[in-house]
Amino acid sequence: MPATFGLIILAVERKRNVTANTKRLNPVESTAKIRVLPDLLVNKIAAGEVVERPASVAKELMENALDAGASRVTLTIEDGGKQLIRVTDDGEGMTAEDLRLAITPHATSKLACEEDLYAIVSMGFRGEALASIGAVSSLRMTSRKRDALEGHCITVAGDQIQTSQTAGCPEGTTVEVRDLFFNVPARRKFLRARATETGHVNEQFARLALGFPECAFELTNQTRVTHRLPAGQSVRERIGSLYSRELAEELIHLERDERGLILDGYAAPPARSRSTTSWQYLFVNGRFVRDRFVQHAIREAYRGLMEHNRQPVYFVFLTVPPEAVDVNVHPTKIEVRWRDSNLIHSQLLSAFRETFQRADLTPSFQADRAANRGFQPGRSDADGDPDRARQQLADALRSATPIVGNSAPPAYGGAGPAFPSRNAPSPAAAAAGSPVDAASAAELWRSTHTDSPPEDGELPSERGMATALDPTRSSRAIQLHNTYLVVESDEGMLIIDQHALHERILYNQFCARITAGPLESQRLLLPETLTIAPRQLALLQGNNPLLERLGIEVTPFGHDAIAVHSFPVLLKDTDVGPFMRDLLDKLEHQDNEGKLADTETVIHELLDMMACKAAVKAGDPLTPQEIDTLVAQKSLVEKSSNCPHGRPTTLRLSVQDLEKQFKRT
Ligand code: ADP
Ligand code: MG
Repeated sequence: MPATFGLIILAVERKRNVTANTKRLNPVESTAKIRVLPDLLVNKIAAGEVVERPASVAKELMENALDAGASRVTLTIEDGGKQLIRVTDDGEGMTAEDLRLAITPHATSKLACEEDLYAIVSMGFRGEALASIGAVSSLRMTSRKRDALEGHCITVAGDQIQTSQTAGCPEGTTVEVRDLFFNVPARRKFLRARATETGHVNEQFARLALGFPECAFELTNQTRVTHRLPAGQSVRERIGSLYSRELAEELIHLERDERGLILDGYAAPPARSRSTTSWQYLFVNGRFVRDRFVQHAIREAYRGLMEHNRQPVYFVFLTVPPEAVDVNVHPTKIEVRWRDSNLIHSQLLSAFRETFQRADLTPSFQADRAANRGFQPGRSDADGDPDRARQQLADALRSATPIVGNSAPPAYGGAGPAFPSRNAPSPAAAAAGSPVDAASAAELWRSTHTDSPPEDGELPSERGMATALDPTRSSRAIQLHNTYLVVESDEGMLIIDQHALHERILYNQFCARITAGPLESQRLLLPETLTIAPRQLALLQGNNPLLERLGIEVTPFGHDAIAVHSFPVLLKDTDVGPFMRDLLDKLEHQDNEGKLADTETVIHELLDMMACKAAVKAGDPLTPQEIDTLVAQKSLVEKSSNCPHGRPTTLRLSVQDLEKQFKRT
């Protein structure tokens, strides 16, 4: 968005300049209305695309350093880069002639012929950055070629070389950019406060530092060194240095090398999710990019592990053959085009899914999870500081240390903010109005479960789960407040939200059933009629195949009512009317969103609704056998750490955590 914005501003600028230049370029006698623009103006226009703010300059200069084979890159900024951006490297350097050419538009050492464009191995290739930057700032470049006797220095303002002279300097290159946009007032005016611009520079620094862990990086803000990253850090160490050590430690590693695609990824557990996508790092051949295929695949893998409005946190590094991806689709190269986007999508989705099946995603208690000392990823499209503050508060609340037992309502279980409506098991609610009463729900789940664990190997994905509970062992779980189950695990204890866990178990079963065929349905003794709006009637008829799969049979009954003849056996204790109304709401919602075609999504939402209705509720007393059965099921289902809406089913407290809390260590 801001790039476009920039373009618009420049377009206005351009118009003005064009008029001003008209006389100079076109002699009075010329009849042509079209003219060739002067170089400086051309460069300023190019700068409108590439140079949005100081951070873009920092990015281009650091990329040049990396392309020059630097093993060490230092970045210094003053006043958020508005006053100064300086990048020094120990790369291959430039001769005096190179320096002069470097600021010429469309001059590059990175492409020799057209074929090179289809297999780009460098960060830059457009030959535009320095020319553009030079056009809108005061630029000084000092460089000494490796093994050369002396260096050279040029200064540039606008598109003119001001000075050019030999210089004593170390091997490598230093580029200094001062007074960005001094000659483009419209752009200068749009630069933000120092802190904001610094944030954007930090983000670009982090992206490059993550993409090139073999290179040493240093960042100085004003006179203070804020980051010193040694060469050869592991990605995890780099994440730890840039953001927070706790986050780095919790990341789940992913690896895959298949069909020409090498994936090296670090995924944060679902409990680390954020409200924005700004913690999603994707690198393709070292370059940070945004890509909706990758984003979608990963979100899909996290589905059911996180609440709807949350965004996963990840750092994904993809290495692909250069010809498998076109990086020449965006002026700042923030987007790519895949030769085979389906392959990318499926490889990522399965890599994440398989890793999650093996990993233990149960969140553990952590009082200060939100305490990130390091960078906050900055979105380049907004100054999200108030949002961040709110986010941090929300995260702090979300992960606040629950107090188990010994607390009077309404602070039930202490984990209030994490489970809003469900953990206030008011006795009235339990006694009065839920569609499935406790006894029948418990019975239902007994009838839908076998008590015997599956044969070894039947659920291979579940082996290796660290919190796996031995389903053959009596769990010794106890129920607290008719809502939570506390159970001993191999490494400590688990606290389970009985409704959330049961919902997850039922949901998985329903999903498995529906893939096998339509759900088993039962004819109602008396058809149940209900009035609905005519438009809903049409909607129902349009969705007949879906209803069939769910085991629901309805016929129109007059022009504003339907009769339900069959209903799924799984919901035998659920009231038909309210369920059908909810179902209609769902269908209508989908319809309004224009996502009519996505039957799978609707089905899964409906199954989830069914699971929610059929599951035991908070406040339902359970017998010891029921508790044992529920707990035993936990280790047998996928994604058991979260309910289908993504809220956690379980919290984990290890013996070490307990020892820490009781100060025994
Ligand atoms: P591009 O990076 O797309 O080639 P630039 O305008 O950024 O275009 O740079 C132009 C040329 O200047 C590069 O191709 C490279 O040869 C040279 N250059 C720029 N920065 C450096 C540097 N730090 N070290 C060595 N050469 C550099
Ligand atoms: Mg470049």
